[in-house]
Parts: sequence; C-alpha cells; structure tokens
Amino acid sequence: MGEVSLTWNATANLRVEWKGRAIFFDPWFARNEKADPKIKNTIDFVDDGASIFMSHGHFDHLQDVPSILLKKEKVNVYCSPVARATIERQLRATPGVEAPKLAWCIDRVHAIAAGDVITPPGSDIKVEAIKSEHISFDAKSILRALFNLEVWKNIKSLGGSLKDYPKGDVFGYDVRFGNEGRLVFFGSLCKKYPDILKAHSNPDILVIPVAGRFDCDKIGLEVTRIVSPKVVIPVHHDNFFPPITYWTPVAALKEGAGKLDPPVRYVELPVEKAETFYLA
Ligand SMILES: [Zn+2]
Repeated sequence: MGEVSLTWNATANLRVEWKGRAIFFDPWFARNEKADPKIKNTIDFVDDGASIFMSHGHFDHLQDVPSILLKKEKVNVYCSPVARATIERQLRATPGVEAPKLAWCIDRVHAIAAGDVITPPGSDIKVEAIKSEHISFDAKSILRALFNLEVWKNIKSLGGSLKDYPKGDVFGYDVRFGNEGRLVFFGSLCKKYPDILKAHSNPDILVIPVAGRFDCDKIGLEVTRIVSPKVVIPVHHDNFFPPITYWTPVAALKEGAGKLDPPVRYVELPVEKAETFYLA
C-alpha cells in the first residue's frame, strides 16, 4: 500500500508528494492582505525540481509562476499555449534578467494539450491532461459584486489581473503514482463532458475547486458522483480575493458525498499542513 502526502496552500494551490517526488498544481501564494485564511508559505515552498501543472491561466493560479521559474532553476511547468505566452511575457517584462537566464526559464515552460501524458523527469509518476472548461460565474455572484461599493474600489486592480492573465485552455489532471493509485485534480469545475469524466473515474482521490458560483457545491457533488473517487477534497472555496470573492458554501458536497453509491469520503484539508492519504 502506497501513500501520498498533500499540502493545500488555499485556492487551488496544492503540493502532492509521492516517494519523495513533488508535483504542484496552480502554485499561487500572492494573496491580498485581506485574504482568508492567511498563509505563510511563499514561492520558497516550491521544491526545486518539482513539476508544476497549470489548470488555466487566470491570475489566482498563474501569477507566481514567472517568479518561481526565476528562483527555482530545476522547476518545469506544464500549461496551455496561452498560459505559456503569459509566463513568457511576464518573464521578458521582469527587469534585470540576463538573456541566458531568461532563455533557461522560458525553456522550462512546456505547452501541452488535453490527452498529453507527462512523466516528470526521474519519477514513476504519469500525469495526463484532461480536457475541461471554466466554471461560468452565476448571476448572484456577479450581482453581489456589482452592488458592492468595496468591490468597485477594488475592480481596477482585479481588472488589470484579468486582462493580463487570459484563461486559455482549461485542464484537469489524472495523476498515476506508479501502480499504487491515482489522484484526479481540477482547478476549475466543469460537468459538461460526463464521458471524459467517466474515462477518469475511480481514482483514490478527487480534488475539486468549489469557487465562482454559490451553487458550486452542487456541481461539485455531481462531478464527484460521475468520477466516483474514494475520497473527495474541496479546494479554492476560501476567500482568496476579498471583497470580490467569498467563502463558497461546500455544504451540498460535504453532506452529499457520503450518500453517493458507493459512498465517497469527504475530507477538508487544513492549510499549510501535510496530510497523508493511503492508496489502495
Ligand atoms: Zn479561473
């Protein structure tokens, strides 16, 4: 029986360690001062040599990746062509980076497509990119923002962030730990392709974001039903960009997971604390 260690840094920022090898999803640490919960980890938490897999190009997933590449010289990043272009643009706009270092950073960003299977160098981990889409924001979340004065005061900074960080292709990932087990990760939630979800069913662990809609927990429960993991873990439900974001309700997923057939164990991760999960 194998085991895998997961550390959640809020949003979709997740470190996964198996047999001493680390992979990261969406390693974003640059939260604003009012974000809840506060996290202490910074880009230094990313192991040099880790492979980073990006679900999509939005700022709350991608913003720290150029700094990570500059600081960690053995990190590799796998993402959509649009996200790759964003990273390259940000790297080129960083003052004081010598040409060889810039080239070395850009060389380590790999554009991938859905269906691609990546083996992080020196490991027995296989990571397959799953075709997915971004959640559509609901009227309640949008109206809440439109009628909130505090939000308007902040919209300028967010506006810049949205424009500078286009979404690009959206991927989930199916991670195979040798023959010991699997973890399926999504960085945005989509139930539009049930056949694709079914093709990635029965993992040991399913990680899903509950963010962007007030009824996201219900969509999360439906995705959980189709994927049918042993364990489901919500991420991204934290209040990462107040006042625009909010703690997203997880109740439907929390209460519904155990009632699925077969029942799924619902686990919320504490932030910044490594938790061990056993693989079948
Ligand atoms: Zn997004």
